[in-house]
Amino acid sequence: MNTFALLFVGLLLAGMAAKLVLMRRQVRHVQAHRDTVPAAFAASIPLTSHQRAADYTAARAGLSARQTMASALFLLVMTLGGGLQAVHDAWAALLAPGSLGHGVALLASLAVLGWLLELPFVLSRTFVIEKRFGFNRMTPRLFVTDTVREGVLAAVIGLPLLAILLWITSSMGELWWLWVWAFWLGFNLMVMLVWPTFIAPLFNKFTPLADAALKTRVEALLARCGFQSKGLFVMDGSRRSAHGNAYFTGFGASKRIVFFDTLLDKLNADEVEAVLAHELGHFRHRHIFKRLAVLAPASLGMLAVLGWLMQQPWFFSGLGMTATDIATALALFMLILPVFTFPLAPFFSHWSRVHEYEADAYAASQTRATDLVAALVKLYRDNASTLTPDPLYSRFFDSHPPAALRVARLQTLQH
Ligand SMILES: [Zn+2]
Repeated sequence: MNTFALLFVGLLLAGMAAKLVLMRRQVRHVQAHRDTVPAAFAASIPLTSHQRAADYTAARAGLSARQTMASALFLLVMTLGGGLQAVHDAWAALLAPGSLGHGVALLASLAVLGWLLELPFVLSRTFVIEKRFGFNRMTPRLFVTDTVREGVLAAVIGLPLLAILLWITSSMGELWWLWVWAFWLGFNLMVMLVWPTFIAPLFNKFTPLADAALKTRVEALLARCGFQSKGLFVMDGSRRSAHGNAYFTGFGASKRIVFFDTLLDKLNADEVEAVLAHELGHFRHRHIFKRLAVLAPASLGMLAVLGWLMQQPWFFSGLGMTATDIATALALFMLILPVFTFPLAPFFSHWSRVHEYEADAYAASQTRATDLVAALVKLYRDNASTLTPDPLYSRFFDSHPPAALRVARLQTLQH
């Protein structure tokens, strides 16, 4: 093992240990607070709902812990265990190593292996945990149809995309990483543009919002906030899950607002308006743009690092490879990147929570804060979200502030 291999294994094990310790803390904290509803929610959330949320949180964390260990093992097998080299050699019998075809085959095989690794966890999450807590609406038949559609879509879009990326990398000279970056940004923008109108309808039905009274109120809110939308839609989220949500999608001409039917079933008009105002807050504060403004230069930096690593023999040998072609470098890089970026997770979670508070404050300025509180309480209750997360776990992983802090902050914004 060279120094790089030691660093990689050390970080991988440290990251896994940190995740497992945090998940264990989360389960213990939630279970220790299982028998008392926090005072702020005592009037609105019954003890049975609170206990159900505790059990649901513990069940999910247990599965995530097993998944964390399986992913770490997979990573070790693929790198130091020689797994990726074996896949590389197997394809070499059919296609010349270093060729475009071999590179695409290698990277696509890695994607399929990663999918196979996730499959048992997705199945137990959907058909065991979600089912046990009454959230799952997915039938095995729909699961198979979804999987086939996703597979076809991944092949139709992913295979040419991989070929283009490999081609750019091998034929654009020294500055290939700049070209790959520009292509990747353009591709992502295109996906954002076509997703709502062409891809999302392959999986769900979108119908224009029919409730006239609600529509009038929502349109008044949009006008008040200066937001131009190309339509209000209701999505049949209930086909797959009882969890409810609302979101914005697309940009420019394809911009639309989507409500899950499950959300509209639960909330009254005031609450729907408040939830939408929160989403508009994200738009108003340009959160997506800010995220992109950090991630785009960061990805350029990472590509430059990849360009440098490709020239270093220790990068390949340290990770169990004798092959040193471009596709191998790309495969290794994608495999190990999460190990090296994991320490950044708390910073991104923190940033996301800051954005949530900003969106809440905006909602409170455009609608009544009490309506958003009422909506959140219903959503925490019906989605079995824990009200008592472990503070350290929450600081590390949660994209949204803990329920108690969020509601307390909103109550100070009441006007
Ligand atoms: Zn939000």
